[in-house]
Amino acid sequence: MVAADVASGKYGRPIKTRFPPEPNGFLHIGHAKSICLNFGIASEFQGSCNLRFDDTNPFTEDIKYVNAIRADLAWLGFTPANEFYASDYFEPLYEFAERLVMKGKAYVDSQDEEQIRVGRGTVTQAGTNSPFRDRSVEENLDLLRRMKAGEFADGAHVLRAKIDMAHPNMIMRDPLLIRIRKASHYRRGDAWCIYPLYDYAHGLSDALEGITHSLCTLEFKDNKDIYDWLVREVGFERPPEQTEFARLQLDYTVLSKRKLLRLVNEGHVAGWDDPRMPTIAGIRRRGVTPAGIRDFAETVGVARKDARSELATFEHAVRSDLNMRVPRVLCVVNPLKVVLTNYPEGQVEELEASYYPHDVPKTGSRMVPFSRELYIERDDFMEDPPKKFFRLAPGREVRLRYGYFITCQEVVKDAAGHVIELRCTYDPATKGGNAPDGRKVQGTIHWVSAAHALDCELRLYDKLFSVPDPDDVPEGDDFLSVLNPQSLVVVKGAKVEPSVGADAIGTRYQFERTGYFISDPDSRPGALVFNRTVTLKDSWEKVKAKG
Ligand code: ATP
Ligand code: MG
Repeated sequence: MVAADVASGKYGRPIKTRFPPEPNGFLHIGHAKSICLNFGIASEFQGSCNLRFDDTNPFTEDIKYVNAIRADLAWLGFTPANEFYASDYFEPLYEFAERLVMKGKAYVDSQDEEQIRVGRGTVTQAGTNSPFRDRSVEENLDLLRRMKAGEFADGAHVLRAKIDMAHPNMIMRDPLLIRIRKASHYRRGDAWCIYPLYDYAHGLSDALEGITHSLCTLEFKDNKDIYDWLVREVGFERPPEQTEFARLQLDYTVLSKRKLLRLVNEGHVAGWDDPRMPTIAGIRRRGVTPAGIRDFAETVGVARKDARSELATFEHAVRSDLNMRVPRVLCVVNPLKVVLTNYPEGQVEELEASYYPHDVPKTGSRMVPFSRELYIERDDFMEDPPKKFFRLAPGREVRLRYGYFITCQEVVKDAAGHVIELRCTYDPATKGGNAPDGRKVQGTIHWVSAAHALDCELRLYDKLFSVPDPDDVPEGDDFLSVLNPQSLVVVKGAKVEPSVGADAIGTRYQFERTGYFISDPDSRPGALVFNRTVTLKDSWEKVKAKG
C-alpha cells in the first residue's frame, strides 16, 4: 500500500509515519511491533518517523513514563526524526475548535454524561438530537471561550462535532471533542482546563505533523470516519491516511497497560522491569536483545486479522539471535560432587574451552580449571537409568565437556539414602574429549571444578500465566486468577565457572546444556545473580515425552 502511494506520488513528499504512545505506562512487546512497523516503513521508503507522546489526559500521564518510553525506543535501536507532544498542540487544537464552531460544525452541549449517552441511541436505533444542538454560533463561541477560561465545573459543558445523530457509525453521532478537566497536566501544568478527547487530538496531531500514513490497531477501524471528517473540516489538504493492522497478542501474557499496571501496583511482579513482564524493560532485563525483538516483530508480520502469537514463536526468535552472539560457559544448576579417585590430589589443570561452537561465526576461548573434585548436574546421573538415558550411571563412561572421559565406580549415599557423591575414575589419555583407541561414549556432560567454581543465584523465569489466553477466563474471574505460581523459581547455590566472575552486569551467556542467561543488575562480586532468558530445547524432555 505504501509502495503504491510512493509510486503514484500521492503526497508529493517523502512519507512520514509516527509512533504515538500515551505516557501512562511502560512500552510492551505489542508496542514494539508498532514501532518496528512505523520506523521500518519510514526507512524502507526513505521517509521519516516521529515519536509523538499522545499526552492529552491529565489524570493518567506522567514524566516517568515519558522517560521510560524514550529509553526503550533508543534501546530498541530507533531514533525518531522528531520528538513531539500532543500537549504542545493544545493551542492549535483550540483554534481548530473555534473554526469548527464558526463553520457551524461543532456546538457546546450542556447535557450531562448520562443524557449524552442515552441520546446517542444504539446500534439498531438512531440517536436523538441534543436540546442544545441548535445553539447559535455566537452562543457556542461564547461558551467555548468561557470553558477555556475556567468558568465552568468539570462536566458542565462539552464541545461536540455536529454530524448526524442517526449515523450508522455510532462514533459519528456528534462525537465529543473537548471536555473540561480541572486537573494539572504533567507538562502543561494548569495552563489548560479543557482537554481534547482522543479522536479529536489524534487525527489532527497527525495532520499538524504532516504524517502521510497513520498506522493504528484494528480497534480504531470505526474511528476512521471521524478522523477523516475532522482533518477535512478543519481544512487540511491531502490528510493522512489511517490504516489499521492487527494488534499483537502473545500467548501466556497480557498486553494491556491497564492490566500490566495492576500486576505492578498489586505486587504480583517486582516492577515494570520484572523479567516476567512483557514490557520492553522486562524483556531487556530478561536478557533478550533488541535484535531478538525486531526479528520476532518481523516474523509476526502485519495482518488485518486478529490472531494470537505462540510463545514458541517468540522464544524461537530469541534463541536464534542469542545462539549467534553469546559465549558458552559452564554452570551447574543443581550440583552433585564427583571425586576423581585416580586424579592427583592438589593438581589443577587449565583446559582450553572455546566460547563458541563451530557453526557460529565468532571465535575465542578461555581456560577453565580442572581438578580432582568436580560438580556435575544432579540430573546427569541416574542410579538405575532407563533406556535412552545416555549420561552418567554406575559403571558407565561419559565425556566431560572440554575434558576427559570419566567412569562412575561408586555411589556414595547419606544415611537417608540420598546420593551425595560419585567416585569416578578418569582416563588421562582422553584429554580433549577423544579416546586414542577410538572407543566412543554416548553422553557429554558439563561440570565445574569444585574448588574454583563461583556460587551463584539463578532466577529461572517461566510463563507469567498458566493459560494461553489470560483474558479468556470464566465469568466472575479475572486474569489474576490464572497467574502461574511457578513463574519464578530461585535457585541458590548453583556453581558457575570462575571466568565470569568479573564480567559486567548485563553480560549474556549460554550456560551449556541449560539455557541462555544474563547477569542481573542485582548481581555483585561474590553474590552473582543470573536471569534465565530462555531455555534450550531440551532433547531429553522430548525423548521422555515420546516414551
Ligand atoms: P494499551 O491497550 O496496552 O494501553 P494502547 O493502544 O492504549 O495500549 P498506546 O500508548 O496508545 O497504547 O499505543 C501506542 C501505539 O502502539 C498505538 O499506535 C497502538 O495502536 C500501538 N499498540 C498498542 N498495543 C499494541 C499491540 N498489542 N500490538 C500492536 N500495536 C500496539
Ligand atoms: Mg491508546
